Amino acid sequence: MRVPLHAPAITDADRQNVLEAMTEHNPKGGGEYTRRVESKLGQILGQDEVLLTSSCTHSLEMAALLLDISQGDEVIVPSYTFPSTAVAFAIHGAEIKFCDINISDIQMDTNHLETLISEDTKAVVPVHYGGYALEIDRIRELADRYDSYVVEDAAQTVNSRYKDKNLGTFGDIGCYSFHGTKLYAAGEGGAISVQAPDLFERAEIIRQKGTNYEQFRRDEVEVYTWVDYGSSYVASELEAALLFGQLTRAEEIRKRKETFYELYIDLLSDLIENDVFDVPVPPANSTPNYHIFYLLMDSHASQKALLAHLNENGIAAASHYRPLHTSPMGQKYTTEETTAPNAASVSERIIRIPIGPGLTEADIRYVSSKIVDFCE
Ligand SMILES: *Cc1c(COP(=O)(O)O)cnc(C)c1O
Repeated sequence: MRVPLHAPAITDADRQNVLEAMTEHNPKGGGEYTRRVESKLGQILGQDEVLLTSSCTHSLEMAALLLDISQGDEVIVPSYTFPSTAVAFAIHGAEIKFCDINISDIQMDTNHLETLISEDTKAVVPVHYGGYALEIDRIRELADRYDSYVVEDAAQTVNSRYKDKNLGTFGDIGCYSFHGTKLYAAGEGGAISVQAPDLFERAEIIRQKGTNYEQFRRDEVEVYTWVDYGSSYVASELEAALLFGQLTRAEEIRKRKETFYELYIDLLSDLIENDVFDVPVPPANSTPNYHIFYLLMDSHASQKALLAHLNENGIAAASHYRPLHTSPMGQKYTTEETTAPNAASVSERIIRIPIGPGLTEADIRYVSSKIVDFCE
């Protein structure tokens, strides 16, 4: 493909850091680069209680362990998300409930959430789709009313702010991804931030296979041993080394995407005005990281036709999630009342187009021209 869908901003200096981690240090997790990354992340998120992990999926699993999710506990997730949002809780026996999304911004429909949430809800897991803020204040308010936890699946929102606060730090726990398809890419990798009081020490233990190794490393205990549940949720130093430079350039990389976003809006303005498709519109008081740029077409036929046209022209445009409530596994959790028509509708109409920070302005112009050609 001439224009890839995902193009991270990895430099030679970043690759040099990996080589250094490989040759000068022991590449196992938890070393120098892990600490540097955690410190940088703490600055970006405005939150000291943050740990680098092996993936966002694992961060979500850590959240399930931290909240003692067990058989029959109800957890509400959007139907329109990556399966990890649900599976991390389902493996602990949670009863998954699916919430619909708004057509207007592809974010969790908080009116639908209000009809689903109850005293039985242990946690709500909102996803900030595309790197844009959803109505987190309303979700927090609803969750507080029913004494439920909020775990933000902030996989796509590292360095994405709402009301001057990084998304992922509004709930009790935030889970972030550094997968190769994300804005800041470590290959695999993730992070967890813990805002809920008294849970952070346990998060350190859960990440280290249920041991108090971190306390041992800080000379707080003489030996380390098995003290809780957990698993191996530590990222390797090689991943941390690849990530470190990208995080030091986090704002520069975000700004680059902002430029691409504005260029798309400019070049596609006629089509947007004529309602040929909708594009993401950041909510007020937000500074998004523009993780995804999407076109929401008016029909499945136009989605298929434009996708084919872009792919034929070497542009790796793609659709996105299949609704979880209709997936083979998701159906295990659905009842006659389960409904999320907007998730199904968006799934059949959405097209993601390339906006990675490793692209050039010429790439964005090329993609735009192929869209304009086709739609005219
Ligand atoms: C990418 C993504 C995940 C999974 O992240 P990993 O780091 O690959 O485990 C989970 N949820 C959402 C919304 C994502 O975009």
